[in-house]
Amino acid sequence: MAVREVITPQDPILRKKAHKVNNFKDPKLQQLVDDMVETMGEAEGVGLAAPQVAVSQRVIVVRLPDDEESREVYGDDAGVLFVVINPDIIRVSDDMVDGVEACLSIPGYYGTVSRHDAVTVRGYDRHGKQMRIKAKGWLARVFQHEIDHLDGVLFIDHASEIWRAVPKDEVDTYQDPLAGMVRPVEGEAGGS
Ligand SMILES: [Zn+2]
Repeated sequence: MAVREVITPQDPILRKKAHKVNNFKDPKLQQLVDDMVETMGEAEGVGLAAPQVAVSQRVIVVRLPDDEESREVYGDDAGVLFVVINPDIIRVSDDMVDGVEACLSIPGYYGTVSRHDAVTVRGYDRHGKQMRIKAKGWLARVFQHEIDHLDGVLFIDHASEIWRAVPKDEVDTYQDPLAGMVRPVEGEAGGS
């Protein structure tokens, strides 16, 4: 396993529609999944999509933290690793909820995004076996965020508000992942 580099919107791969996986026997797919799990863990993220490591394939990994506090909030969803290939959202709740999102590909940025409170995801596990996941709350949000990545969509595209908060210990080395790109300016998001 290896930690892979997470790309930012400066790399056009992040904006491409990713290809479906056809060959589950390909050792490269298994390597990709292992590396994505390791990369997500290293970055302390809760989800990662293959385009974020510059691979234009429909693969996502999701894992909510499983410390004591997370177990209280997420219940049985805490700490469960989901690897989903060719995921599709086949059912959504009418209920929408606002939540604050971030993205490993857009470090330092946060946004308020409205998502379905519950979704049903259909896809395949890493060996090609069909699977179906019913997700609610934060887990449902993470699935929607990651599946968006497979279509080149980022949370900043449908955030009602976007702001930047660079961690103090990164101020000196921080490189704006959206530098030179059209985006809402701080303080103006949601304005008239
Ligand atoms: Zn993301």
